[in-house]
Amino acid sequence: MLTHILSERSAQYLLLEDKYSAHNYHPLPVVLEKGKGVFLYDVDSKRYYDFLSGYSAVNQGHCHPKIIETFINQTQKLTLTSRAFHNNLFGEFAEFITQYFGYDKVLPMNTGVEAVETAIKLARRWGYTNKGIGENKVKIIVCADNFHGRTSTVISFSTDPGSYDRFGPYMPGFEIVEYNNLHAIEVAFQDKNVAAILVEPIQGEAGVVVPDDGYLQGIRNLCNEYNVLFLADEIQTGLCRTGKLLACDHENVRPDILILGKALSGGTMPVSCVLCDNAIMMNIKPGEHGSTYGGNPLACAVTVTSLKVLREEKMAENAAAMGILLRAELNKLQSPFIKTIRGKGLLNAIVIEHVNKDAAWDLCLALKENGLLAKPTHGDKIRFAPPLIINAEQIKECVGIINESLKILF
Ligand code: PLP
Repeated sequence: MLTHILSERSAQYLLLEDKYSAHNYHPLPVVLEKGKGVFLYDVDSKRYYDFLSGYSAVNQGHCHPKIIETFINQTQKLTLTSRAFHNNLFGEFAEFITQYFGYDKVLPMNTGVEAVETAIKLARRWGYTNKGIGENKVKIIVCADNFHGRTSTVISFSTDPGSYDRFGPYMPGFEIVEYNNLHAIEVAFQDKNVAAILVEPIQGEAGVVVPDDGYLQGIRNLCNEYNVLFLADEIQTGLCRTGKLLACDHENVRPDILILGKALSGGTMPVSCVLCDNAIMMNIKPGEHGSTYGGNPLACAVTVTSLKVLREEKMAENAAAMGILLRAELNKLQSPFIKTIRGKGLLNAIVIEHVNKDAAWDLCLALKENGLLAKPTHGDKIRFAPPLIINAEQIKECVGIINESLKILF
């Protein structure tokens, strides 16, 4: 039983989940009940550094006081009208977010994958309406090892059997090219039916795979040359995570459709959106796309505060500086068990030497024991992505915890 690594109380929570919930996740055995800033606390009041940040949904830190204040105030006034009616916050939110990111229009949704679906529909519609592609012929280029979410359309173009296996038949209209390979994109763009390319500027779930400098600019140039839309999935990389507001900003690239989610609400509720200009967005007419909760007043209020907080507290700058420090301190460890250290800003990963097939999982268990929460992805990779408010002293303490934990691999 788990009681050798867990208190009896925690073990009870695990048993409940095991008995009554679908087994669609494999969580680390820790039961959390409180979060504050860069820290999480379990049901026995043990404190941990959070090095996952809710898969980058909690960039602003847990329970950021300004975000929570906005959340509480708005829940006492109005939470949902649906878009059947207007509400007093939706227009202001739309103005704020379009000016913040520099696009004509926004279309709000809830989860990340819904925003990806929205971007796909906008790109297809543009392909027919603006590019003149024949009926049902539009093709969208995607990259191998992508992660864009879990709907049946999106898993149709996943290359991870864990995502797509036995969930077919699959949605047609997508072509997969190698990531970080501009030539492969140019070859794919020879097909006149290509309307768009959907790309993660850094592949987060794949293990923080950072493409070569110039890749995003190269895609932009090819898109311009072949009249193809550039769809950037910045759900995980956006909102200051990589040391700039958007990961595309590192190469001064403006996507045609920007896809955001996760930290738009600072981890308080599902909020996502796509942003683009009128030529693309205005192809969608009333009744052709939407969501009951999309653009609800609570989400509007919380999103505006979450975005303001990122800017006011200079979280991009801090993520850039702390990321450099984190990678430098990790490099100093010279551990024989760390094969690779990579990342940008505070989106980082280490690749663990294959001492045995459970090495990364075992290391995460040791990290947990020593007060730091991180989770392996794809077997041997561990993402290090703390909230963007972490400071230098804390980074050094965390690297100390990592160093200590690596000893279990000897
Ligand atoms: N796109 C990317 C790049 C992601 O990292 C994720 C989630 O991890 C998604 C899409 C899906 O977001 P959600 O889980 O909110 O649907």
